[in-house]
Amino acid sequence: MGVMRIPGHEHQAPREVSLEEIRSVLGDCRLCELAQTRTNIVFGVGNPHARVMFVGEAPGRNEDLQGEPFVGRAGENLNAILSLAGLSRDEIYIANVLKCRPPGNRDPKADEVLACSPFLREQIRSIWPDVIVTLGNPATHFILKTEVGITRLRGRFHQTGHFTVMPTFHPAAALRNPAWQELLEADFRMLGDWLARHPAVKTPQAPAQASAPVARGEAEALPRVGE
Ligand code: SF4
Repeated sequence: MGVMRIPGHEHQAPREVSLEEIRSVLGDCRLCELAQTRTNIVFGVGNPHARVMFVGEAPGRNEDLQGEPFVGRAGENLNAILSLAGLSRDEIYIANVLKCRPPGNRDPKADEVLACSPFLREQIRSIWPDVIVTLGNPATHFILKTEVGITRLRGRFHQTGHFTVMPTFHPAAALRNPAWQELLEADFRMLGDWLARHPAVKTPQAPAQASAPVARGEAEALPRVGE
């Protein structure tokens, strides 16, 4: 699977394509069967220049109804613990691997992830965050290209290409398990420490074309389902 074709861009470099352009390409997507049961496409929300990007699994019932990720109780939990990392909701960007809700909140199917993940990959390339926080197993497995469970992966940082990745529990799952909630909060404190130790480096929002080959190489490190 190659880089997604975005009209007006030949070989898009990190931060070259806007989120609006990606949303426009997604349109009224019907690439997988989830289009038949969704209420709304849940593209993503937040700061297009976020230093920290959160990736979840798929929209739930409230997200499907409202068209926005992480609303309802899971969203409230996320908002509450963001401060442990010194972050606020308007500083971050949140998106899911799947943009449409699987019926009954069932697990994503491999063909659905294959169809939808190019949009997430372009969102990551557009935002080009320093840190990707993966919430739960499906998002973690997709980003880190592993089948290792979240309980073994959480509590430390991982590196994939340009990106530092912090896997942790999904805020909705943590609400059902107080022990996981404690670990989730510990991970967010760890994220805050990391951000304090790694101050943001100012970079231009749209790198010059001359830097594209190197940057594209890093972007290629992003996960590719099915390979
Ligand atoms: S889940 Fe993704 S690929 Fe499937 S219809 Fe929705 S937007 Fe398209």
